[in-house]
Amino acid sequence: METILFLSPTEAALSKNTLEALAAAKQLADSMGAPFSVGLWGDAPKAAADSIASCGAVKFFAVTGGDFAQARYATDAAAAEALCRAAGATIVIAPSGSRWNRISAGVAHRLGGRADSHVTGLSVSEGSPAIVRWYYRQRMEGILTRAQRPWLISLESGIAPAWPGAAGSAVVEDIACAPAGVRTEVTGIESPAADQQTIRPDADLLFVTGAGWTKKQPDGQTKVAEAEKLILGFLKVSRASLGSTKSLVDLHGEGQATLTFLTHMNQVGQTGSTPRHAKGLSTCCHGEEPHTVGWRFIGERRAISLDPNCGWARGKADVLYVADAFAVMEKVNSLLAQKA
Ligand SMILES: Cc1cc2nc3c(=O)[nH]c(=O)nc-3n(C[C@H](O)[C@H](O)[C@H](O)COP(=O)(O)OP(=O)(O)OC[C@H]3O[C@@H](n4cnc5c(N)ncnc54)[C@H](O)[C@@H]3O)c2cc1C
Repeated sequence: METILFLSPTEAALSKNTLEALAAAKQLADSMGAPFSVGLWGDAPKAAADSIASCGAVKFFAVTGGDFAQARYATDAAAAEALCRAAGATIVIAPSGSRWNRISAGVAHRLGGRADSHVTGLSVSEGSPAIVRWYYRQRMEGILTRAQRPWLISLESGIAPAWPGAAGSAVVEDIACAPAGVRTEVTGIESPAADQQTIRPDADLLFVTGAGWTKKQPDGQTKVAEAEKLILGFLKVSRASLGSTKSLVDLHGEGQATLTFLTHMNQVGQTGSTPRHAKGLSTCCHGEEPHTVGWRFIGERRAISLDPNCGWARGKADVLYVADAFAVMEKVNSLLAQKA
């Protein structure tokens, strides 16, 4: 029988992404009739274990200590390895994130197992776990099983509802861990101010900007400064995540006036990202296939374009507003301001 371990570093409270992966791990264990344990590491993982005490895990293991609070390969990998060994895990399920993604291949190698990342689904095939992954820029879906154990699986966010259970008091078994070869000292974290951070994977809405925002408008003028004001104003009140077309982010490199807060990290599409949000609103974008393929996991899609024959009109959007996005967003912002 498989022994399933749900594994995660802990920071303040467990993130939504972590609770989603926990729910998926629990569901896999239930459908296989296999026991599952939880392994956590960090400064004070007991608090995190308490917050998920009623999840049904047969055991909670923890590596505890100030050294394990910070994101660093040597300590993260050592803690994860120790927890996998303590649990005797054959299947390890972790939420994807920068800390886990950095160590998963190395930990699998140390354990003599295998690792798979970007997993978007778990199921059971002939009594064995199977994973779902997308290939070829999210155009093909594959279902895989593996014979090697332990099998370390990193789950993408947004593929399961977050585990909703109650907190309690977990009985945690402390696992000793003495990482060797720690050479990196984390001296601090530099991150942009909350308002400058425009990519918000947990947002309900994806707001996409296209090159039209920087093009000459019907009066013959470009209105880039006005576009910036409208877009930032909308993001501030809606807390939406900001996506962009390739054409718009490429304008930087071409030396044209463009929106200063956009980078290639915002690009959605075939050569950009494939975010997951409940809803999406596209503005000033033509809706061409290399862009809209990145909308594969967006639930409800709406677009505002001046062109009634754009790609959105040809089956890519649920609703297309043939309208001037400057006028629409100005009105939307003023309605949202009244509501706030
Ligand atoms: C190999 C390859 C990979 C690619 N990968 C990607 C990718 O990952 N992501 C991506 O986005 N693209 C990608 N592209 C480019 C893609 O094909 C399109 O060129 C790009 O998405 C077009 O961007 P756009 O719609 O913003 O600009 P445009 O095509 O210039 O469209 C601008 C639109 O704005 C509208 N508009 C103008 N003013 C207004 C206004 N006031 N109100 C409302 N609408 C207005 C216009 O009617 C027009 O429809 C790729 C292309 C190739 C060849």
